[in-house]
Amino acid sequence: MAKQIKVLFLSPEAVPFAKTGGLADVAGALPDALKRLGVDVRLILPHYREVWTSNSKLYLLFEDLKVPFGKDLFTARVWESQTDGGTPVYFIKREDMFDRPNLYGNAYGDYYDNLERFSFFCHAALCLADRISFSPDVLHCHDWQSGLVPAFIKGPYARNSAVGQAKTIFTIHNLGYQGIFPQEKLSITGLPKETFYQTDGLEFWGNISLLKSGIFYSDSITTVSPSYALEIQTDEYGLGMAGILQKRRASLYGILNGVDYKVWNPACDTHLKAQYTPENISGKNHCKESLIKEMKLIQSLKSKPLLGMISRLDTQKGLDLLVKILDDILALDVGLVVLGSGDQSIQEILKKAAKKNPRHFGLTIGFDESLAHRIMAGADMFLIPSRYEPCGLTQMYALKYGTIPIVRNTGGLKDSIREFNLKTGKGNGFKFSDYKSEAFLASVQRAIKQFHNTEGWKKLRVNAMKEDFSWDRSAKSYLKLYRSTLKGK
Ligand code: ADP
Repeated sequence: MAKQIKVLFLSPEAVPFAKTGGLADVAGALPDALKRLGVDVRLILPHYREVWTSNSKLYLLFEDLKVPFGKDLFTARVWESQTDGGTPVYFIKREDMFDRPNLYGNAYGDYYDNLERFSFFCHAALCLADRISFSPDVLHCHDWQSGLVPAFIKGPYARNSAVGQAKTIFTIHNLGYQGIFPQEKLSITGLPKETFYQTDGLEFWGNISLLKSGIFYSDSITTVSPSYALEIQTDEYGLGMAGILQKRRASLYGILNGVDYKVWNPACDTHLKAQYTPENISGKNHCKESLIKEMKLIQSLKSKPLLGMISRLDTQKGLDLLVKILDDILALDVGLVVLGSGDQSIQEILKKAAKKNPRHFGLTIGFDESLAHRIMAGADMFLIPSRYEPCGLTQMYALKYGTIPIVRNTGGLKDSIREFNLKTGKGNGFKFSDYKSEAFLASVQRAIKQFHNTEGWKKLRVNAMKEDFSWDRSAKSYLKLYRSTLKGK
């Protein structure tokens, strides 16, 4: 029998404890899927204020974990909990670093001490492994917040008995977040100066990049879809990192994320007015009616297409395209429901448009998990016009809810959505390629035309709902990668 692999996950967020985006969904579900495959996996997170309000049961494990911080040793408390699937979760607690209203920053920008916070988190995770005598075979690090760990393992922790022998895997969930700090702050990390100056160390256009640290020092790199793994090696999508990613391409893999169907499934979703399945879809109409009511939209929309969008309000998500064609979309006699938080100027434009069309455009600014589920179920179509999309989860959720995705053909959207063809009856959504508002509008028009063909739409909806993006498939790919990385391949 193959030896049981021990994996320590380091993530800056995970559901149900703390979430700003898709990374939290991944870090909350993938460990349990790996556990089902027999991996001994543990997860480490910062103890943000949000962790208290998540209503999770937590137990104090240690009061006095000693953690390097620059030239000093600081103390952290460690709390413990579990995921639904029984994966042990450890939280690194220091009020001065993590007890804040948000995870990474506020309306004025990122917190000024994010390097201090996440350098401390990385050290703390490695010290904790030592303290609990957990010697992982693999340290699986996620995004720039844990990007220092691969550098630590090759440097100061190389001779540490618990973690020194571990292989490191670094997953890029979004190349757009690069963890950039002034080089003068390098000493906070405890890393020697050479890590900055050596070619391809932490140096990134004169600054430190923690994302680059993860890319350069890890044994294997993954990103969250095969298409995105190729795209980020190009100048167009590489955001300054294409060169280093090309150099490391032999160790770079794309593994599509999965969906937690315990959470995102209309057959058992408790946020909904009515549940439904592909065999009995009548509940979806109740969900649509109730969403129309909740958003105070005009009742006649019951028989017309209702478009939904749930997104960070960020230029990455293609909001500029949506804004350009908002009037054209609303002129197609459809309803639109948008839930989002983020960029102030995008919020203002959307607010103005919603005020102008209150009976056809329902807008909610904020982060609302329960409403996200109700939109997923109540809408007929789901808009994701992203400029780039590493994986994207909402298109996979939408499929399960029979809500047809209209997406830009990029990254994970390209890998999961196929244009519907009425003649062959194949396909699960609508796509456009050029990042242009006209191309986006044309795909919306194709979807609306199809909506009015009742039989075709039924077929398309069944295709969508029968798609299977469960985590078990992705977890098998990760396990394979752990094994090959351990063999040094
Ligand atoms: P990203 O991680 O780039 O934001 P993903 O599609 O991978 O995009 O994941 C987004 C996740 O965040 C989904 O679970 C989506 O439902 C959720 N989400 C995004 N914005 C909101 C919001 N305003 N309210 C509730 N959930 C949101």
